[in-house]
Amino acid sequence: MKRSNLCVTQPVETEDIKLSNIKTIAAGVPAITSSVNHMIKELNPKICASTLFSVNQVDGFDCPGCAWPDPDDAEDRSSLGEYCENGVKAIAEEATTERIENSFFEKYSVQELSQWSDYKLGKSGRLTHPMYLPKGKNHYEPVSWEKAFDLIAEELHGLDHPNEAIFYTSGKTTNEAAFVYQLFVRQFGTNNMPDCSNMCHETSGVALSETLGIGKGSVRLEDFYITDLIMIVGQNPGTNHPRMMTALQKAKRAGAKIISVNPLPETGLMRFKHPQSPTDILSSGTQLTDLFLQVKINEDLALFKAILKLLLEKERANPNTIFDHEFIQNKTDGYDELVASLEDVNVAELAQQAGLTLEQVEEAAELIANAKKMIICWAMGITQHKNGVANIQELVNLLLLKGSIGKPGAGTCPVRGHSNVQGDRTMGVWEKLKPELAKNLEKNFDFVPPKEEGYNTVNSIKAMHEGKAKFFFGMGGNFMSATPDTAYTAEALQNCSMTVQVSTKLNRGHLVTGDAALILPCLGRTERDIQASGKQFVSVENSMGVVHQSNGSLEPASNMLMSEVGIVCCLAKAVLENSKTDWLGFMEDYDRIRCAVEKTIPGFKNYNQRVREPGGFYLPNGAREGNFDTNNNKAHLTVNQVPNHQLEAHQYRMMTIRSHDQFNTTIYGLNDRYRGIENGRRVIMMHPDDIKKSGFQKGDYVDLIGYHEGKKRVAPHFMIVEYDIPQQCVATYFPETNILVPIDSYASECKTPASKLVIIELESSNYR
Ligand code: SF4
Repeated sequence: MKRSNLCVTQPVETEDIKLSNIKTIAAGVPAITSSVNHMIKELNPKICASTLFSVNQVDGFDCPGCAWPDPDDAEDRSSLGEYCENGVKAIAEEATTERIENSFFEKYSVQELSQWSDYKLGKSGRLTHPMYLPKGKNHYEPVSWEKAFDLIAEELHGLDHPNEAIFYTSGKTTNEAAFVYQLFVRQFGTNNMPDCSNMCHETSGVALSETLGIGKGSVRLEDFYITDLIMIVGQNPGTNHPRMMTALQKAKRAGAKIISVNPLPETGLMRFKHPQSPTDILSSGTQLTDLFLQVKINEDLALFKAILKLLLEKERANPNTIFDHEFIQNKTDGYDELVASLEDVNVAELAQQAGLTLEQVEEAAELIANAKKMIICWAMGITQHKNGVANIQELVNLLLLKGSIGKPGAGTCPVRGHSNVQGDRTMGVWEKLKPELAKNLEKNFDFVPPKEEGYNTVNSIKAMHEGKAKFFFGMGGNFMSATPDTAYTAEALQNCSMTVQVSTKLNRGHLVTGDAALILPCLGRTERDIQASGKQFVSVENSMGVVHQSNGSLEPASNMLMSEVGIVCCLAKAVLENSKTDWLGFMEDYDRIRCAVEKTIPGFKNYNQRVREPGGFYLPNGAREGNFDTNNNKAHLTVNQVPNHQLEAHQYRMMTIRSHDQFNTTIYGLNDRYRGIENGRRVIMMHPDDIKKSGFQKGDYVDLIGYHEGKKRVAPHFMIVEYDIPQQCVATYFPETNILVPIDSYASECKTPASKLVIIELESSNYR
């Protein structure tokens, strides 16, 4: 039953957008000013300093932002604080003094709140009490925890089959919570465990598992300081992984070269001033990128293929000087097929297709040819595509031919955007249940886990839309705004009999709900977690596969909050009447969970002891050691097809991106400082010549139109902003334009939504 008058997308608001030039230097004093502003606005001044000096320190809490690693050794961590501007925003957002009391929900119906932007919803403050939205009602009501768990248990017991329930996980969920969550869900009888990784690095996982035998990156942080060359592809570190700029600066000072591949000249790729370095502040900072390749959207593979061809020509001209034939011979297969596939490659044509000059591609090939050790970093710019897997496998080809995997200073580096997204997958949160985990769960917990593959994110949305799934549970996150095809996803969630969200703050997923809905407010990463056995710590896994502890120390925002672990264990107790698992025992002492993990998940021997060591421990990683856990223990060189995008003159390739004041769907502010866009978000960044050709002018408002399989999708009222972007390529922010990303447009291997390439047209805006 759909509630009426509900705004499921970002409401169109009048904005007074201010434009300025693209910034040429990242961080520096402006990052300090911005951080202080966010801290002062949100936090109790008394806790500002202690919080900043605790984040990412060995005995502190892990930043709830991205998954960029901390220096291994405590003494290498900055005594002035191991955080960045966007880490500060993430902390301020969570540790805000703003509170949502029960009166808030008495005052506002879900329909009224749905007219607020995600930014305004998030700024309402921390959730403080479990809330229930009964069927047929429009206002949330306070409910006791016990009643809430009983309501969910009743709903789950009422389903015809466990596969009618979906259990989503956001990447902020810690290891301990993720492990008991997957155990509960599998004991309930389903593998419907979609997670945010489905929408971001799933293509990385597929590509790397197939070619190298492990779905994770192989490098360590220290490899950046001893490498010859770093390629940064489809990633914007300045906003999404800012402390990476510190590592890039150190790499540059150690003599490394940097090639950046991106449709946008992102400031954080160009020049950096370390905010904690007076020398930097007083100077022009450090130039990062040596060669910037402004590739057209989704033409990365054309570029990589052209580079491979040039390297092959160089190798043939001077045998055994470019390719590491000993490595290729001993560690890989598929070389002959790859070389054969390059014979007819026309480099000039591919350079043009990529939107680059032949000279630029040749310069890149020269830099790569001269590098003995290289690291390739990437993010959503190449993963969120229909050919995301092929994009990444072509990068792996480059590294394998250079023998740049499995040795210090070299390797793969998919940079994770969420603090524990990699850890959740390691804990077993996935719609696919690995045979070894199934065997260990059966052995250790005396039940037979379901074997049938569950729904990933796209399939979950479809199952809810088709009525095959009737119950949705979100462990953190903002499924409603993070997912593609907003209108379709809203219908899917509203098709459910019940939706439940475990959250710290209000978001659109609390307003676009099933017939009945529950909000279960949990502790944040910064907050103290006291259980029956005393103060607890949790653990997370960063992008480099380091598992380390996180100790929250702040007073919880409310005494009615429960920890993620507590919520799952009490829920399991309420739902699984015959379970033999000591759920309350797990809740009382998280060491017991880690003991269970040690018995169930490979790589966690002496988990409790090693996680207490300063900095934690590295998980095993075969590719890092040059051991490839593939079908033949060889790394696979692959042949990948260059996509052929045919656009009409009035069509554009649109990519959805984050602003600098944003972390996934959490909107910290309305400014995108580096790109010179302030006080608004409904903008479309376009090339000046495209604006001229379109008949519109910069500053005009247009509706963005997407046609997919005959269905028209409209994102209304975006201001045209003249921007340095390749022609027929445009950029907009999500979640505002997720409504244009079709549910059926995804990477075929794993259904990662193709959010980085949507073909759109423009129409004059009808919004008044
Ligand atoms: S780089 Fe990422 S993990 Fe580190 S402080 Fe910034 S947001 Fe947090």
